[in-house]
Amino acid sequence: MTGHQIAQQMAPQGVRIDAGGFRDFYEPEIRTVHLSRVTGDGKSLDDIVTASHECGHAVIDVLDGPMWRLWKFLAGATFNCLIFGIVALAVLAGWHPWEVAIAGSLVLVSRVFVVLAIEREVSRIALAWLDLNGHLQPGMRERLSEMSRTYWLSTLR
Ligand SMILES: [Zn+2]
Repeated sequence: MTGHQIAQQMAPQGVRIDAGGFRDFYEPEIRTVHLSRVTGDGKSLDDIVTASHECGHAVIDVLDGPMWRLWKFLAGATFNCLIFGIVALAVLAGWHPWEVAIAGSLVLVSRVFVVLAIEREVSRIALAWLDLNGHLQPGMRERLSEMSRTYWLSTLR
């Protein structure tokens, strides 16, 4: 099975698959799983794992659970405006720059924590799907947990 075929089987109803791109990522705004040409045409363990991980993002989006809602809020424009407003107020109120910096870092840390939690959940969904559908191969579990640890950085906007 190619990465594209895996994605076609795993993607929830209403999620599009675009397999001709340069990068592997899920775009929630248009509910589309983007697969690079390499991943889409490939049949290696890495290609299957990558395709199922990206579809895991689509599954999380469709499920619309509390963690995903929190992430959408944290990544959204409303939240950024809110943070900007709070920082501006803190500066105007004469907060020490250190206090503003610490408050800012706490916000950033919470964002990273939510991203990590989602990436772990996405990999868990991918693993369960691969297992249930008879595609699980030795090494996939390790590769998936590796992905959730290394791919989270690119999710930060
Ligand atoms: Zn991911």
